[in-house]
Amino acid sequence: MSEERYRHKKQLGQHFLQDPNYLGRIVAAIRPEPDDLMVEIGPGQGALTKPLLEKLKHLHVVEIDRDLIAWLGQTFPPERLTVHPADALKFDFGSLGAPLRVVGNLPYNISSPLLFHLADYAGQVTDMHFMLQKEVVDRMAAAPATPDYGRLSVMLQARFRVMKLFNVPPGAFNPPPKVDSAVVRMVPLSADAIPYHDPQRFAEIVGRAFGQRRKTLRNTLKGLVELEVFEALGIDPQRRGETLSVAEFSQLANHPA
Ligand code: SAM
Repeated sequence: MSEERYRHKKQLGQHFLQDPNYLGRIVAAIRPEPDDLMVEIGPGQGALTKPLLEKLKHLHVVEIDRDLIAWLGQTFPPERLTVHPADALKFDFGSLGAPLRVVGNLPYNISSPLLFHLADYAGQVTDMHFMLQKEVVDRMAAAPATPDYGRLSVMLQARFRVMKLFNVPPGAFNPPPKVDSAVVRMVPLSADAIPYHDPQRFAEIVGRAFGQRRKTLRNTLKGLVELEVFEALGIDPQRRGETLSVAEFSQLANHPA
């Protein structure tokens, strides 16, 4: 697609990868195999789509921009590329089948809601590789009692093994974003390794604990976790949520009220 004709849409987070070195590193990290069932979110002008299709027999893509949807349809043969014209936040990834691999240089403005949406499909996914804002990747992979640790870290680490792979500088994109980027790998935990029993209760406890970060668990979880439960589990209610491991959050959520 000619650069003169196409105007980047800032509101869609359009920063296209152009550095062949980083593109090569991302594809090497993904390690596509010819028969993989794979979907790319936000293919844009195909920077990642093209090298992926050199390895894969077929690829699904989910793109929201009408101009790009039309261009992708004209550029790639339909038997190699299936274009789903859709908002990835609402797209039913389950409709593509399993086991599914998910990749993408994601639009940074919707990355957290998109990660939560994708977490719903963890049961049928082999792995996910994403380029995201570096700060978001640092939060996803953060350990307890560090400044980056929060709701995103706990909710994702309870369902996935989250691995930060490498940073990518703004100069690798056109136009360059204002922030640094990073590539992350997420591998779903097996069903028997998911630490909580009740997803809703776990999400509520984690949400409340990080809703007011500076407050103690005794305050933030009032009415949700009784003091006797803290005592039975040996978790000090004077601690703050940001000091609790994923396993400790799960213990609180799993303990009968
Ligand atoms: N993959 C391309 C690359 O690396 O050069 C483009 C990446 S660009 C950061 C993000 C892409 O996601 C754009 O093509 C944009 O149009 C698309 N996009 C933005 N919001 C979207 C949404 N809600 N659903 C699907 N695609 C979206």
